[in-house]
Amino acid sequence: MPTSSDKDRWSRDHDKCVSCETNKIPHQARGLCTKCYNKALYEETRSDPEKLAALQARWREQQKANPVPTDRKSEQNRRHYHKKGKK
Ligand SMILES: [Zn+2]
Repeated sequence: MPTSSDKDRWSRDHDKCVSCETNKIPHQARGLCTKCYNKALYEETRSDPEKLAALQARWREQQKANPVPTDRKSEQNRRHYHKKGKK
């Protein structure tokens, strides 16, 4: 049974980022915050174009899976404003 202190931890295995020691940025993986994880991933894939391409494809999939509704809304507003303002 998990205790409340377990729940409050930054990640399951770490209290803070093992690289930059922040707990302000959400945990991503391997004890690294989102920022450090992306950086580490970039370092790893820099010399491996195939790996990088696979990673970028995955990022695009993630963006597709989590569309930002405010973006679409602001675009609609802009279009509406443009139409209205033209007269
Ligand atoms: Zn970090």
